[in-house]
Amino acid sequence: MSRRLEPGDHIYCKRKGGLYDHHGIYVGDYMVIHLQGKAKKSKPLPPCQKCGNKRVINGEIAKVCVDCFLDGEKLEIFDYGVPPSEFSARRSGTCSQRHSKPPSEVIRTANDFLRGESSAAYDWFYNNCEDFAVYCKTGSNGSAQVGEVIAAAGLVACATLLGPVTALGFAGAFVLSKFLRR
Ligand SMILES: [Zn+2]
Repeated sequence: MSRRLEPGDHIYCKRKGGLYDHHGIYVGDYMVIHLQGKAKKSKPLPPCQKCGNKRVINGEIAKVCVDCFLDGEKLEIFDYGVPPSEFSARRSGTCSQRHSKPPSEVIRTANDFLRGESSAAYDWFYNNCEDFAVYCKTGSNGSAQVGEVIAAAGLVACATLLGPVTALGFAGAFVLSKFLRR
């Protein structure tokens, strides 16, 4: 982590030993709003003592404590407004060239989704934790912008095993994104 965690930050961590990353929005008070991935079966663990998280993985937007979010992994901050030269040198799914909205708006958007009050096209990023976080941060899925490719790459990264992203991989993810959007 290169800087201190602030409310409104897009955070992520490894899952399954680094096979993919999990993303969420830090909303302050040691809590995170994230889109939980669906699992084939949930482990019968007792609820979290800190946040009451029942640990049921159901593909819904949920608010949990940082410990539940990280699940023992290292916290990383997803950077926004990264210059193109730096962006191309960094690993895919760790930063964006697009700019973040003010933290208060980011947190409000995440809370709107949590309460089911957002009017945004929920199904676009359904079951994609990175798209959810990017949407909260930027307010769009990046139509016709470089961010669309970034988000589309994330779509693949969260769902499957994505190694180094090649130019071909980017193109494929872009097409997939167009297809899924209908
Ligand atoms: Zn918890």
